Amino acid sequence: MASFTLQGIPVSRGIAIGRAHVLRPAALEVQHYLVGQEQVEAEVVRLQQAISAAEQELKKIWADLPADAPSELGAFLNIHALFLSDPMLAQAPLEIIRTRHYNAEWALVTQIDVLLAQFDEIEDEYLRERKADIEQVADRVLKLLTGSATSLPAVAGVDELNAHMIVVARDISPADMMQFQNSAFVGFVTDEGGQNSHTAIVSRSLGIPAVVGMGNASQLIAQDDWLIIDSVAGIVIVAPPQIVLDEYRDKQAALLRARKKLVRLKKTAAVTKDGTAITLLANIEFPEHAAAAMEVGAAGVGLFRSEFLFMGRNGVLPSEEEQFNAYRTTVLTMKGRPVTIRTLDVGADKPLNEVDAGTMNPALGLRAIRYCLSEPQLFLTQLRAILRASAFGKVHILLPMLAHAFEIDQSLALLAQAKSELALQNVSFDANVSVGAMIEVPAAALSLPMFVRKLDFLSVGTNDLIQYTLAIDRADHAVAHLYDDLHPAILQLLAMTVAAANKSGLPVSICGGMAGDIKLTRLLLGMGFRVLSMPPALLLEIKQEVMNMDLPLFAPVVKKILRSYDPAVIAEAMRTLQLL
Ligand code: PEP
Ligand code: MG
Repeated sequence: MASFTLQGIPVSRGIAIGRAHVLRPAALEVQHYLVGQEQVEAEVVRLQQAISAAEQELKKIWADLPADAPSELGAFLNIHALFLSDPMLAQAPLEIIRTRHYNAEWALVTQIDVLLAQFDEIEDEYLRERKADIEQVADRVLKLLTGSATSLPAVAGVDELNAHMIVVARDISPADMMQFQNSAFVGFVTDEGGQNSHTAIVSRSLGIPAVVGMGNASQLIAQDDWLIIDSVAGIVIVAPPQIVLDEYRDKQAALLRARKKLVRLKKTAAVTKDGTAITLLANIEFPEHAAAAMEVGAAGVGLFRSEFLFMGRNGVLPSEEEQFNAYRTTVLTMKGRPVTIRTLDVGADKPLNEVDAGTMNPALGLRAIRYCLSEPQLFLTQLRAILRASAFGKVHILLPMLAHAFEIDQSLALLAQAKSELALQNVSFDANVSVGAMIEVPAAALSLPMFVRKLDFLSVGTNDLIQYTLAIDRADHAVAHLYDDLHPAILQLLAMTVAAANKSGLPVSICGGMAGDIKLTRLLLGMGFRVLSMPPALLLEIKQEVMNMDLPLFAPVVKKILRSYDPAVIAEAMRTLQLL
């Protein structure tokens, strides 16, 4: 097969090499994991049992059919039963389990994909429409399988190279992405998405190379194609010739070596050449990610996106106890370093359940603090859980998407209520826990005194600030080219925020994507930011950059950037900044 290259938006730096695993939307819902050699036969039996249980179900439906049932119904049942006994469905997935070690659900959806693709090529319309029957039969078996799912076993006895797979999908929701953690998947390629869509953020957090906004990659790439993701260049090479594969394996090894070298900086202070101390914090999505933050020597957690505890659970919310345990684990893992827990930021591309996903203009809807204030019991539960964790280490509370004074007041009132409820029960918490505002809506950046007066710290969410200021959906690849960190409007809002915070002595940080973009570090520090929070995987590289800087040299260039409204002048000044 001829090799070709596709271009997209790189979201996490690195190189991944593996075979394509193209996902249909429905297939996303099933678990994907590899079973160890010793479990293969048990997994085969699990699938066989599900198939025969599906046959029994069909027989029962057949037997229970009322006498006056339309005759087509019987015909459909017949077709379904035929499919179930066809070797293409009854045998081929068993072979996939045996040869590739896929779990039963995954083996089944892989084979279904192959069958559906064959149906697509059939000229006869009637036969082509039998696709839906295959999907229904597969769903029946999948439902029966899900009830008998085994837990995720270790990947043992699988040839390492063949076990490397790259997910190719139209889109992957952040919730779906979580099931790929600690699995055999080494990269992600999606048709949709932008640089700071939440899918991109999760892949960056997992440190997994990904390219998003690829247009129609999921149609161009076939199941099992060899792929190279170069997420530095933002390209995916499909079916690369051996010479290109070898070249990329060398590049990959060199990148790994460079990363290992950076580990030496773990304990080194992040201080510029002129002696300015910079605080580098970590963004995390799960308590388990705190270990990665410690591994790179982060000074604390600057953003714990707590909503990830709530997602992918079919709307079943985590209890106060479950949340408390998650927050306490994080705080204990961070060993006295501060942990900033952002309260639930659901909505838009992080829906709590499928129903929310259909809202019109979700990014402008009932998300984040708006949602929490409309569900005070849910918010109170979270606040109590966070407060309880504050007895175990330094905790800060961060409120997302504030725009109105009353949202601050209501949040603080609910926090006071949570405190008094705990006090009544003699439960310990830090009574002075500090509360900060995300500055991520232009309205907030334009009314900073409102926030400065009422809160203890500010944290700029550049992802949403850019989305809302420039009116571009951050998850929509069709407008991804308009996403511009260096737009004068964004630079002005950032400068205003740092100036207002410094004037009032309020701590200010950046926790959006700009903080982890090494091309922007000089600019942000030159503007006066001293605290940056980013995915752990980026922290040491940024620390190295910080240590090479001489801040006083930046002042005139940064001034020029902030005065200019000409993108070409700004771009030129940015180049100058890199050379200082
Ligand atoms: C942001 O908006 O920049 C931010 C940090 O929050 P999130 O990316 O989770 O919306
Ligand atoms: Mg945000």
